[in-house]
Amino acid sequence: MSSRLDSHWSAYERAFRGLLLRSRPRRLQRGVELLQARVVRLIGEGRASNDALAEVYQRCRRQTINRLCRLRGRPRRAEQLRLLLEASLPEVPYGLLEPAGSPDFHCDAGLGGMARWLRAAGYDARFWPGVADDELLDVTQHSDAILLTTDGPLTRRAAVVWGVVPALLVPLGPGKREQFQWVARRLQLRRQAARCMDCGGCLLPVPKESVRDEIPPRTYPWCDDYFRCERCGKLLWRGTHWQRIEGYLLGQ
Ligand SMILES: [Zn+2]
Repeated sequence: MSSRLDSHWSAYERAFRGLLLRSRPRRLQRGVELLQARVVRLIGEGRASNDALAEVYQRCRRQTINRLCRLRGRPRRAEQLRLLLEASLPEVPYGLLEPAGSPDFHCDAGLGGMARWLRAAGYDARFWPGVADDELLDVTQHSDAILLTTDGPLTRRAAVVWGVVPALLVPLGPGKREQFQWVARRLQLRRQAARCMDCGGCLLPVPKESVRDEIPPRTYPWCDDYFRCERCGKLLWRGTHWQRIEGYLLGQ
């Protein structure tokens, strides 16, 4: 599969998750898998992969709008809700409109630790400390990201209740790791290739000798696998910190 198609798949996967979270959050991962199976079936029938993805997305978008109108719309304002949702849910996933990419998650001020754990598990998460609620809702609405928040009143705002913004209220758990485990279970997140924990960028393998000058002398003899964050440029290696985090993630 070409990397261009890969990026389409991941943009659509994010968009599928965002759509499903608005109306069928309990079957999130299963729902994503069913949609992907439908795409594969269409490709098997001879459809071009981009056309198959777009067709399945459009159908899921229509079903989401219909379902939300049934769930939330009082008859008197059902039509307004339909218009609002049609304007809010893009006909093409935002991740395809902006190649720089929309992240998978936006984490509010209470969830900085969550953003780091999500990145270690392979998801692109943006941390928003000190941002106003309105801006956070607005920026999430215009992306394919899911908003994670510990702020109850924020999730009772109309944009969230009506399904315009996909958001999940995270309980104030005993620890950051437990909070991450709760989200990973709730959204049935599967582990992916680790991302940079500082910024969420993808990690690209680099030959050991090409970065020799940057490797601490005590690390060089025992570690052979090095990675460069494509976003912030940081050099990382599978050190004890990384291995400990992988151990935690395996136990999630
Ligand atoms: Zn980085």
